[in-house]
Amino acid sequence: MTTTYEMVIGLEVHAQLKTKTKLFCGCSTHFGDAVNTHVCPVCLGMPGSLPVLNKRAVEMAVIAGKALNCDIQETSVFARKNYFYPDLPKGYQISQFELPLCLGGHLDIVVDDQIKRIGITRIHMEEDAGKLLHQGSGAIAGSTHSLVDLNRACTPLIEIVSEPDIRSAAEARAYVESLRIILRTIGVNDGNLEEGSMRVDVNLSLRPSGTSKFGTRTEVKNVNSFRSIERAIASEFARQKEILDAGGVVIQQTRNYHDDTQTTTALRDKEEAHDYRYFPDPDLLPLVLSKLQLQDILANFPELPEQIRHRYLGLVLTDSDVVVLLEDMTMRAYFEACLKVSGVVPAKEICKWVVGDLNAFLKDRPEGFASTMATPEKFVGLLALLVAGTISGKMMKDLLQKMIETGQNADVLLTQSGGAQVSDASELIPVIEKVLAANPDVVEKIKSGKSQSAEFLMGQVMKETRGKAKPDLVRQIIAEVISKY
Ligand SMILES: [Zn+2]
Repeated sequence: MTTTYEMVIGLEVHAQLKTKTKLFCGCSTHFGDAVNTHVCPVCLGMPGSLPVLNKRAVEMAVIAGKALNCDIQETSVFARKNYFYPDLPKGYQISQFELPLCLGGHLDIVVDDQIKRIGITRIHMEEDAGKLLHQGSGAIAGSTHSLVDLNRACTPLIEIVSEPDIRSAAEARAYVESLRIILRTIGVNDGNLEEGSMRVDVNLSLRPSGTSKFGTRTEVKNVNSFRSIERAIASEFARQKEILDAGGVVIQQTRNYHDDTQTTTALRDKEEAHDYRYFPDPDLLPLVLSKLQLQDILANFPELPEQIRHRYLGLVLTDSDVVVLLEDMTMRAYFEACLKVSGVVPAKEICKWVVGDLNAFLKDRPEGFASTMATPEKFVGLLALLVAGTISGKMMKDLLQKMIETGQNADVLLTQSGGAQVSDASELIPVIEKVLAANPDVVEKIKSGKSQSAEFLMGQVMKETRGKAKPDLVRQIIAEVISKY
């Protein structure tokens, strides 16, 4: 008889806070600069140097905690987590242990149209370690020696620890996706898994389906894309199942995931908390936030993705456009700026052009939405001409492209292009009659019921008027004139 197993997953997500400076010193957190250029006695762990807590990091951690429905603790304490590794100059990491900043939150995820609530045990603040650069090989195995870059040491992180409420790879992925979009939207994290600004550790155990006692878990590290979250879980599930099926026992350990082979290998036997000899950091006072300070921090609490979604759907944007806007922060900022000056132009029309043509035009341009010369004011000015029927959709596209290139406003572009679209029937009728006279065969086809041939005549009229004829009016006049033939 074969046993079926249920997987029990808890996730630990490390998210880098988007502060300009490090957690306990004034060094820059800027990514990608020359090695060991953002360092000082504090983040190098020099004897006698003293840490000073970054206020902005605390504010961001509080906002993240609130966004994830946690109770923000009035008093939290920084502790030393002691371990030796070359990327950790002090020989300990400053983290929060017994008294973290946030407790008891939750995050609702949607999988197969079902909403499921995942508990969040705690969120604590901590500093990051440096980075080892293995020489002569991509990994420590096979390398000749390793160098240390401490630019990242002491960068502020929050660690978000979930309850073991997750039951499938799909749920794990949905959880990290929701988390990512929330942290990005509230502006505390840039959500870049590949660059390591979000890192996921998967705690996974198996138990026979229908039972409630937890099995022995392993922690899988080095999972740095959505795809690898799912693959690492599938691989670790299969490995543990094989052990259990053979009557063996799973050993509690930390395992490394390898994306190339889609397997995990043992890194070390899992430490217990006491192995780290945690104790409160004597260099840092407990972090105490008064009610007033908390109120201050939360006074400008940002809109959450669900609230934005709700507001956008109220503006009759489509589901798929909402997804695009939530994912692309710069595009959304541009769209929001347009809404502020929208006047008579409906939000739906703005969205259609922002997500569609404007996005396509800006895709390969370095300035992008952030600093395009087609500013929200100018762009909405042009759209107003379209909505009023002064220009056609085709003219809109042409003028928008010119606006991106020149930064001219709508009125100037319209004058340069030779004026508004022709929506005066008395101007259009002679042109249409000329086109019909030149194409008697097409007229015959239309009369015999092939109405799609009218599009050809339409094209000819547009050619004659250099794209300025009002399309609806042209269609109407063509139909009227042909009916009299
Ligand atoms: Zn420093």
